[in-house]
Amino acid sequence: SRALNELELPQVVAESPEKIGEIVASMHDVVATRLAHPRRFRASQLKALERMLEAHEQDFVDALDDDLGKGSVEAKMTEIDMVRAEIDHAQLHLSEWMESKPVKVPLALQPAAAKIEPQPLGVVLVIGAWNYPMQLVLAPLVASIAAGNVTVIKPSELAPATSAMLGKLIPQFMDPRACVVIQGGASTSKVLLEQHFDHIFYTGGERVGKIVARAAAEHLTPVTLELGGKSPAVVMDGSSIAVARRLAFGKFMNAGQTCVAPDYVLSVGDAGRNLEKQLAKAISGFYGKNPMASRDYGRIVNAAHFDRLVSYLGDGEIVIGGGHDRDSLKIEPTVLANVDPDSPLLSEEIFGPILPIVAVDSFDAAVRFIHARPDPLVAYLFSENPRLQSSFGDQVRAGAIVHNAPNLHLAVPALPFGGVGASGMGSYHGRHGFERLSQMRAVMGKTTVLDTLKAVYPPYTWAKSKL
Ligand code: NAD
Repeated sequence: SRALNELELPQVVAESPEKIGEIVASMHDVVATRLAHPRRFRASQLKALERMLEAHEQDFVDALDDDLGKGSVEAKMTEIDMVRAEIDHAQLHLSEWMESKPVKVPLALQPAAAKIEPQPLGVVLVIGAWNYPMQLVLAPLVASIAAGNVTVIKPSELAPATSAMLGKLIPQFMDPRACVVIQGGASTSKVLLEQHFDHIFYTGGERVGKIVARAAAEHLTPVTLELGGKSPAVVMDGSSIAVARRLAFGKFMNAGQTCVAPDYVLSVGDAGRNLEKQLAKAISGFYGKNPMASRDYGRIVNAAHFDRLVSYLGDGEIVIGGGHDRDSLKIEPTVLANVDPDSPLLSEEIFGPILPIVAVDSFDAAVRFIHARPDPLVAYLFSENPRLQSSFGDQVRAGAIVHNAPNLHLAVPALPFGGVGASGMGSYHGRHGFERLSQMRAVMGKTTVLDTLKAVYPPYTWAKSKL
């Protein structure tokens, strides 16, 4: 591939278990020196990351093209600029986040001072997924640097060009004592998970999420699990082209391989029929008559996922798209109606460019449908009605509630990004990532010059018991 050849990148090389053990041990030694604690060091590493993106933007664009056929505009918007926004936000707020915050002391304990003081956790392991192979390791890295930790990154082996690019460039730009990239697949992850970390930040599917949580339990290591699930989109009225465009944008970005993409539509009443027509217009407006030839439309990550997705196509009535080509790993933006209720399309996360439209009788029926399934990462409602919007938020449990705007909430650094229940635990971005990867330590002090605690000291006389 172009990106790999030009930079003569090493292939994804798995380190030996001994070497991995040594690397992690040396990072604990670095933590003991407090190298990454000072504000100035944190700022220098954020700057280094910024410089890396500046100097090698095109190399990352090429790598993302190699791995997923991402067009350059989409790659910049959804990966590189997302990381930049996190860096900018952290640079702007770092001093404020690092400040300790005084808190009120109850009258009976005064005089005393109490504060919350963010402390680095130590060595953080970041394990990333393949679908946004750059953003999903670098955005947690920003939080980890800001919090004063040292970080081991394990990018996904299913995005080998991006993994290799990170493996090559991070050591050139970042302080190698504070950030290490370890490449490899499940066996490498397994060895990493045997090591002791102070936090494990995992993005990926539920099955491996459980493996990570089990391994972390051995060391009592806290984990953040950024998982997926089936994010529903409830559509009250399908006649608006704007609604169809929003849905098509959220669903077909990265060929549907986006954790927050609308997984399926719940169309209320007869909204579905209008929506199908508008979706057809939205899709051809975005990608032309032959979407598989569009530079703005990506491909499926590998043949196994391609075959899985193609096997779904018979489970409903294809109303838009359905074309596919195994050589280029492309599947047209596809919309299905009348889906078989037993199809995996309605139980497994689709994670590809297939959008089933499920008709329900009412808003309440849509809410019940969502309730009957595991908690999604996002629940989308397409409606301008404030009463419905508030009722949706009251009744639906999800990592986020978003009205009319798929995929956008994670581009707001001040919003926490994460799941609940089956879609994950813990959240990040902006201050939320900083706090997630910090210990919010309690500090309290009281003078002995005035001994104001006499009232609570033993012996507990009759008079004290009456206090
Ligand atoms: P993946 O296959 O890339 O796996 C994720 C990571 O787990 C990789 O680094 C991989 O090496 C590692 N891994 C794989 N098998 C392992 C094992 N047996 N032991 C330890 N580590 C192992 O990605 P995936 O799981 O296919 O990712 C897709 C899922 O991720 C979807 O469910 C998607 O919704 C979810 N996702 C969530 C978010 C989010 O931010 N919440 C973002 C992107 C993707």
